[in-house]
Amino acid sequence: MFEKILIANRGEIALRIQRACRELGIKTVVVHSEADKDAKYVKLADESVCIGPAQSALSYLNMPAIISAAEVTDAEAIHPGYGFLSENADFAERVEKSGFVFIGPRSDSIRMMGDKVSAKQAMIKAGVPCVPGSDGALTDDPKEIIQTARKIGYPVIIKAAGGGGGRGMRVVHTEAALLNAVAMTKAEAGTAFGNPEVYMEKFLENPRHVEIQVLADEHRNAVWLGERDCSMQRRHQKVIEEAPAPGINRKLIEKIGDRCAEACRKIGYRGAGTFEFLYENGEFYFIEMNTRVQVEHPVTEMITGIDIVQEQIRIACGEKLRFKQRDIMLSGHAIECRINAEDPFKFIPSPGRITNWHAPGGPGIRVDSHAYNGYYVPPHYDSMVGKVIAYGATRDQAIRRMQIALSEMVVEGIMTNIPLHRELMVDARFIEGGTNIHYLEHKLAHKPDLEKEGALGAKSETKAEA
Ligand code: ADP
Repeated sequence: MFEKILIANRGEIALRIQRACRELGIKTVVVHSEADKDAKYVKLADESVCIGPAQSALSYLNMPAIISAAEVTDAEAIHPGYGFLSENADFAERVEKSGFVFIGPRSDSIRMMGDKVSAKQAMIKAGVPCVPGSDGALTDDPKEIIQTARKIGYPVIIKAAGGGGGRGMRVVHTEAALLNAVAMTKAEAGTAFGNPEVYMEKFLENPRHVEIQVLADEHRNAVWLGERDCSMQRRHQKVIEEAPAPGINRKLIEKIGDRCAEACRKIGYRGAGTFEFLYENGEFYFIEMNTRVQVEHPVTEMITGIDIVQEQIRIACGEKLRFKQRDIMLSGHAIECRINAEDPFKFIPSPGRITNWHAPGGPGIRVDSHAYNGYYVPPHYDSMVGKVIAYGATRDQAIRRMQIALSEMVVEGIMTNIPLHRELMVDARFIEGGTNIHYLEHKLAHKPDLEKEGALGAKSETKAEA
């Protein structure tokens, strides 16, 4: 096992990785920006290195600074967390070339999955069902583009091969709008992602987002750890995640899960990963693979009892998976609410000092957060300040526990989306289960009264600091 790991991330995931390391008896080095120098997880680490100013480009994305920090502290491996450099194949390569272990897949796997066209082609080859679409990237031939769209059937979606974060996509409903949409998406993709390649897919109108968690070692063993339903989204950003996905045939999920594990073996994937699918009318359609730990990994941990971050570290160390597929038991139900420092209905970030922080607790409640009383939420990064996870023997019990947890939770000094979560936990359609990816946006668009203070039982604690 490693003796010392460097954590190249911040916030709750930096703390989460640190906890996994401590449990495994591994020393930690945390790198941080000037804006994060007083964070508690920085103080809790065995060592810390300031790698630059607040701006991510100069700190958390600063590859030479991170590698130098590993050199001066004698760390053996680097855990990238999620976001920042976690899916950057060049970074993974530089880490390995500098003599350190990258806790994640090999750089060529990251590169293949980072290009959505090559990812999809690999999945089709591995027998994973994909959204019907163009054979690879679109050519420049207008006739061919029109033919492809006719074959797929409208509406179609034009997507950038190098896209990410919900950007670089355009839905097309008619042939008249097609060529212009392709040209515009190409131009934007070239500027935004440095790769003008685009491809075409059938646009699914009312899908759910269901994803499969996998773990694979470098000895070609792979398992899947059940699925997560992440359909409660706004602007393609997940707000609530749960496991298992309510109301989907288990046999179908098992078939898809087995295919994902098989795909990992076929492509020689190593590490934790997530196969993202759209699910509509009883069918799964692969859209992309994330080659890192996900924000929502705790819901899977709660229903499997497997610590995904510790397993990532064991795999990076060259260990064989300690379990086979038949050892993976899914038990109970878990729900995660992402707590963001933001105006819950205008979705504007609300950084600032937390003057009072009270995290909930009790049976089945887990809070993954780096926040505390007096913590200053810096304006430079993602607005997520933590995650509340509720586990129950049944989905109903998990919801009830989440309702109680959210009612106990106090965050003063900044605004948070806790009032929105409180509202969603008593929403009839959410309680029923199985809402699609548009549900939250529809709900917000059709219930403007939700914004009025008090309509949600929102207490004054979420008011902004004067
Ligand atoms: P990103 O890497 O930017 O997250 P994805 O390929 O995962 O891109 O797609 C992001 C979101 O865009 C999906 O969760 C879904 O809401 C929507 N989307 C993508 N492809 C399709 C499709 N073929 N039909 C309908 N919606 C889609």
